[in-house]
Amino acid sequence: MSNFKWCHGPSCHKDKTQDRVRGSKGSKVLRTRKIKQQTERSWYRPNDFMNYFCSVGCYNNFAHKHIERIVAIAPRNTPLETPIEDPIKETNETNYGHRYTSTHIKLKGVDTQAE
Ligand SMILES: [Zn+2]
Repeated sequence: MSNFKWCHGPSCHKDKTQDRVRGSKGSKVLRTRKIKQQTERSWYRPNDFMNYFCSVGCYNNFAHKHIERIVAIAPRNTPLETPIEDPIKETNETNYGHRYTSTHIKLKGVDTQAE
């Protein structure tokens, strides 16, 4: 049983690496990489984008090529908001005398907005 997917990178088959070379002498090609689906492993996640791409570069190439269609899946025409308590500013000083300010932000209540 073959348990793999082909990389979805639109130019995966154009990267000049030895592992992509396939075919017999005189009719060699650069072929899209296979991604083994290690479904029997405990760490396997079905929705991981790396199940579909051999590298982050191929994932980026895919996203750049199809970005309009990707965002059309879940368009965001208004911003989302997360209710928070009033932020608390705190001035700190290191042992070397350097002073810096940090802001503590605490979420308010339960987030009821969809992702
Ligand atoms: Zn690829």
